[in-house]
Amino acid sequence: MKEIDSNINIIGGGLIGSVTAYSLSKMGFNISILESKASYNENNYSDHRTTAISEGTKIFLNKIGVWKQIHPFCEPIKKIMVIDRNISNQLEFDNIRRKSNLGYIVQNKHLLKIFYNHLRNQKNITIFNNIQIKDFQIKKEKIITHSNTVKVTANLNIAADGKNSFVRDYFKLPYFFKDYKKNAFVTIFTHTKDHDGTAFEFFYKNGPLAILPMKKIKNNFCSSMVWTNNTRFVNNLFEIDQEALISILNKETQNCLGDIKKIITKQKFRLSAHINSKFFEKRLIYLGDSAHSFHPIAGQGWNLGMSDVESLYNLVLEYKSIGIEPGDSFFCKKYHNNNFYKAYRLYQVTDKLDNIFKITNPLIYLGRSTGIKLINKNIKLKHRISDFAMGIS
Ligand SMILES: Cc1cc2nc3c(=O)[nH]c(=O)nc-3n(C[C@H](O)[C@H](O)[C@H](O)COP(=O)(O)OP(=O)(O)OC[C@H]3O[C@@H](n4cnc5c(N)ncnc54)[C@H](O)[C@@H]3O)c2cc1C
Repeated sequence: MKEIDSNINIIGGGLIGSVTAYSLSKMGFNISILESKASYNENNYSDHRTTAISEGTKIFLNKIGVWKQIHPFCEPIKKIMVIDRNISNQLEFDNIRRKSNLGYIVQNKHLLKIFYNHLRNQKNITIFNNIQIKDFQIKKEKIITHSNTVKVTANLNIAADGKNSFVRDYFKLPYFFKDYKKNAFVTIFTHTKDHDGTAFEFFYKNGPLAILPMKKIKNNFCSSMVWTNNTRFVNNLFEIDQEALISILNKETQNCLGDIKKIITKQKFRLSAHINSKFFEKRLIYLGDSAHSFHPIAGQGWNLGMSDVESLYNLVLEYKSIGIEPGDSFFCKKYHNNNFYKAYRLYQVTDKLDNIFKITNPLIYLGRSTGIKLINKNIKLKHRISDFAMGIS
């Protein structure tokens, strides 16, 4: 059994754990990452999703020096069209006012590859793979993590082990959980018409259908889709052949991208949301999906995780400036206070948004259509909604 000491020990090296490790390593701390999967390799990476990076996240990625590498893989979102059932009933957002984009679409595989390229160049980061955590022990000012292959003694543990967090279960931490009893059908496809940087959000009775503009693939216009629907329906989409699938998707996308030509990848995800009752234990904090997860309707889950990372970064910097090691109870509680309410607010927004557009009552539909027209005319309100989408409000 290997034994190591580190300042900060991170459990989970996914899209949040990896970038957390990199950002903190830049302050000179010794960081360890304990990851349950095999060593990261782009050839065995199975997540075909894209992520909509908000402007707020972009600013932080730029600050820690990774945006330059991510940027070439991103397609900027210049415009968002919100469509209530029919394309004639639409609300349009752009961001001419700030002369910036509303977000950036990138494939998760590019993000993780870039983060791991950075991690592997940092001498003060050690990554352990194929890890099974056994238990945790608090001894004086330290937290000790026992696993199948390594024992890590650290000042602070960070749980970044995703929405089914082992760490949360280990500490028997109560959490709020909502099962939407729906699945998301996620696909990347090529199409005949240029998207011109437009993201579409169709609100249908069974759930939202989002189309996100991607960089061209082999010179073809390309977009990704996240379509929330009943579990049985989504399962059926996996059983039919490509031609039938394309014909269904053409109907649902109402020709906004011309004809769909080819389905490149497809995946499905069970939809749920959760928030831990607190974001800390003794000498441990929860970050990203291990703390909270949301309906992907607004594409904000990872962005909120990144806001946790930024808040942690600033707090660690503050501690470092007065010469104190991060990890004491005041530190962990302060991290919780800085981040818990933001997660609660995002849960409320995403959950209610999903509900509002599901309602089929004709009176409410009329109210919603009138609301859409009013928002279209109210520039101030439109700007506030754009700021929310950009992650800067
Ligand atoms: C369909 C869909 C679309 C989405 N689109 C967007 C979007 O456009 N924008 C956005 O901001 N968010 C989006 N999200 C949310 C986003 O994907 C997540 O918030 C993000 O991936 C969370 O990253 P994470 O690192 O916290 O968790 P994960 O990605 O789940 O990573 C957890 C890591 O911990 C490891 N691990 C697990 N258990 C253990 C253990 N016991 N010990 C050690 N390691 C362990 C795992 O192997 C993994 O590497 C979407 C979500 C879905 C479902």
